[in-house]
Amino acid sequence: MKIIIVGAGISGLTTYLFLKKLLPSALLDDVPIELLIYEKHQAAAEKGHTSGSTTVGGALAIVPNGLHVLRDLNEELFEKIVAKGYSCSHFCMRNSYGCTLARFPTVDHGPPPTYTVMIGRQEFWQCLREAVPDEAIVHANVLEVTCGQAQQARLKFADGSPDVEADLIIGADGVRSVVKRTVTGDGRTDHYPATYEGLVGIGGFISASTLGPTYPPGQTTMTFGAHGFFGYGPCNLASPTNRPDQIPSPETPLHSAIWWSTYQVSTPPSITSPDFSAIQAQLQTRHSNWKDPVIQNIVSTATVDSIYPTWTTPPLPTWSSNGNTVLVGDAAHALQPSSGQGASQALEDVQVLSLLLAHFLHKSQSPSPSPSTPQNPSQAISLALKNYELIRKPRVTAIQQASKRFGDMKRKKGVIEEWMTYFFLWLMGKWGAAGNYEKLLQELPVYEVRKFIEADQKVEETE
Ligand SMILES: Cc1cc2nc3c(=O)[nH]c(=O)nc-3n(C[C@H](O)[C@H](O)[C@H](O)COP(=O)(O)OP(=O)(O)OC[C@H]3O[C@@H](n4cnc5c(N)ncnc54)[C@H](O)[C@@H]3O)c2cc1C
Repeated sequence: MKIIIVGAGISGLTTYLFLKKLLPSALLDDVPIELLIYEKHQAAAEKGHTSGSTTVGGALAIVPNGLHVLRDLNEELFEKIVAKGYSCSHFCMRNSYGCTLARFPTVDHGPPPTYTVMIGRQEFWQCLREAVPDEAIVHANVLEVTCGQAQQARLKFADGSPDVEADLIIGADGVRSVVKRTVTGDGRTDHYPATYEGLVGIGGFISASTLGPTYPPGQTTMTFGAHGFFGYGPCNLASPTNRPDQIPSPETPLHSAIWWSTYQVSTPPSITSPDFSAIQAQLQTRHSNWKDPVIQNIVSTATVDSIYPTWTTPPLPTWSSNGNTVLVGDAAHALQPSSGQGASQALEDVQVLSLLLAHFLHKSQSPSPSPSTPQNPSQAISLALKNYELIRKPRVTAIQQASKRFGDMKRKKGVIEEWMTYFFLWLMGKWGAAGNYEKLLQELPVYEVRKFIEADQKVEETE
């Protein structure tokens, strides 16, 4: 059985690790499994470097639902990742006049509790990359996916190397996915191109001392104003000893903090040759009247390290095709960064898809097949892809819609809109946010997929 993953980002690497863990016990000993990742960036294919989307070097939040996936994947790897970040108990929502509007808890109460982890994207990616052997990653730019002989999927390469066929191709190739073209069309034309949202995020890392000696432990501060948004908070400790179940004590020495600013602009700045001095000057102008002294300190001293224009994937009619090609992560649903869920939703995709593949492949090997048993591995894969999409799409769509509302709050606003935003945030803090957040955590898709698998096993037993 040959499975190819396109892309060695967070989705691609975790897909590899999940399948490596689950497939051997799902298949009979005499069915060899070949599992390979094809990655276009030489740097990402090698250890010690970074993936395509992380070269920009920002930070991200891994929220508890994403952390649970990592824990299920590998406890040791989970602890290694968490140790390199900073456990965050709440987002403090403020306005540009210096008023605190709300505190949104970012912890799932367990027991034990699991705190959201703020972490450099590079650090996170690096931990995953170190867990994948070098020989599992092929450096190659995939040009197109087509349907090959005997219904196998086939990869074509940009440098004209010979085509490669596989029983399953998993597109983990990000917001400009080439695999998506095959899943949603003829493979050549992108009928659902990535959409520029009119928002740009810039940011960087600063010394944690910039936050001041009395910065509340466990807090990430998010400030909304008429001209955009500014966020900051601790990112890691002086030594990598952060824990998932508690926030660092005020005495624990911090190493660095992150800051990021989101603003509206019709044409995104160049990422390949950005005019950093103009971007820096605009940053200072945009936030010149904001009351928070930490923001003033950051905009006057920090340098802009990274630029991320926000590109999202429009809702796709399907995430899989031909029963042998499927999308995960940003390739299926690049979310607004304001969701704080991009990486975590990618992790949920990967876990659900891997569990379903293992379940149906195991079923297809049954010595006493029932009418509902897949007749062969390709039928099993096809069933897994169909159910993956059924389980994942509703949740991702709901998160997509909610994150759009938050993204819109970061745009330029007139006076009425500005005060409506503050009122809405205050109201969410009073009534809504905590409940919604807990709902998001309670409805972990892994529970749904386990229930589905149990029910499917019962059907087989009664046949
Ligand atoms: C500004 C910003 C802030 C964010 N903040 C957060 C946050 O706070 N919390 C959060 O959870 N998420 C956040 N995210 C999103 C998060 O980083 C992604 O959702 C997550 O990394 C999943 O990405 P992926 O692996 O699916 O795709 P990517 O990271 O884009 O990886 C795709 C990989 O595929 C490779 N590839 C692409 N095309 C080909 C090809 N043709 N052939 C071979 N290889 C190919 C690329 O080189 C790359 O390595 C943020 C994103 C941005 C832009």
